[in-house]
Formats: sequence, C-alpha cells, structure tokens
Amino acid sequence: MLPVQRKTRTQGRNRRSHDALTTPRAVHCPNCGSWKRPHAACNDCGYVRPGLSLKKDDA
Ligand SMILES: [Zn+2]
Repeated sequence: MLPVQRKTRTQGRNRRSHDALTTPRAVHCPNCGSWKRPHAACNDCGYVRPGLSLKKDDA
C-alpha cells in the first residue's frame, strides 16, 4: 500500500516529534557506588535495597 498523498514537511516532523529516544536510566549503587539500573540488583555487589541483596557468595 502506498500513501494516498505525500505528507507535508510539517506533518512528517510533527509525527516524529514523539520519536525521540530517552537515555537509559542509571543510579549509583548506595552499597558500592557503581552504576546500576533503578529497582534492579547491582551488577557488582548484588545490592537491591536494605534487607535484600542478590549475590551468589552472600547467600
Ligand atoms: Zn553495588
């Protein structure tokens, strides 16, 4: 299928006004200070939140 009629520059640009990508969120791990995704376990130390830590050698 082809478009019935070519969209104007403004229509194309307006449609793409919502296409921008956001940078991936990252926070400092309060336990070891390395970057980690929010609400996820830290890659380096396994810290999630106070009272919960996911790490093989800890458990
Ligand atoms: Zn950590």
